[in-house]
Amino acid sequence: MFARPFIDSLDFAGNGRQISGEVPVAELPRLLDALENPQGILSYTVRGGLDSRGDPLLDVSITGQCQLRCQRCLNAMDYPVHLDVRLMLCDQASLDALDENVTGGEEEAFDSILADAHLDVLDLLEEEILLSLPIAPRHELGACQATGSGDTHEEEKNPFAILAKLKRNA
Ligand SMILES: [Zn+2]
Repeated sequence: MFARPFIDSLDFAGNGRQISGEVPVAELPRLLDALENPQGILSYTVRGGLDSRGDPLLDVSITGQCQLRCQRCLNAMDYPVHLDVRLMLCDQASLDALDENVTGGEEEAFDSILADAHLDVLDLLEEEILLSLPIAPRHELGACQATGSGDTHEEEKNPFAILAKLKRNA
């Protein structure tokens, strides 16, 4: 039985704690829905800390490999996962305020999540990976086994993933 790690996120951040481990892709059901098959294993590290203003945050790193389904030939394609994400911990009121400000032009440097005394680490990892996946993955043209001609559309990316990357790299 695979033990799901939980953390008290504010305590974790305030005390600079760190957790790392490996999780088989097969243990992440929501992610699995987006994949071609359950092969693959992901390594993760979550570090707690405070930013320069003393606000609590989690630095999340995920590396590994999973297999997406090519939208052109419908065969499996290797997809390397390399994610480094900083997440600010907020209370509900702050999160609501952020939501209201989405159209206000105020750019947030990092994503925020609700501070949780019983944060499901795997659920958090799963969410971040899902946000990063391309919505219509395709092999490189030379590597694709599709024999049809004509489908030369540019790879479409999940617009939310692009937005998230922009925000995270700001
Ligand atoms: Zn293909």
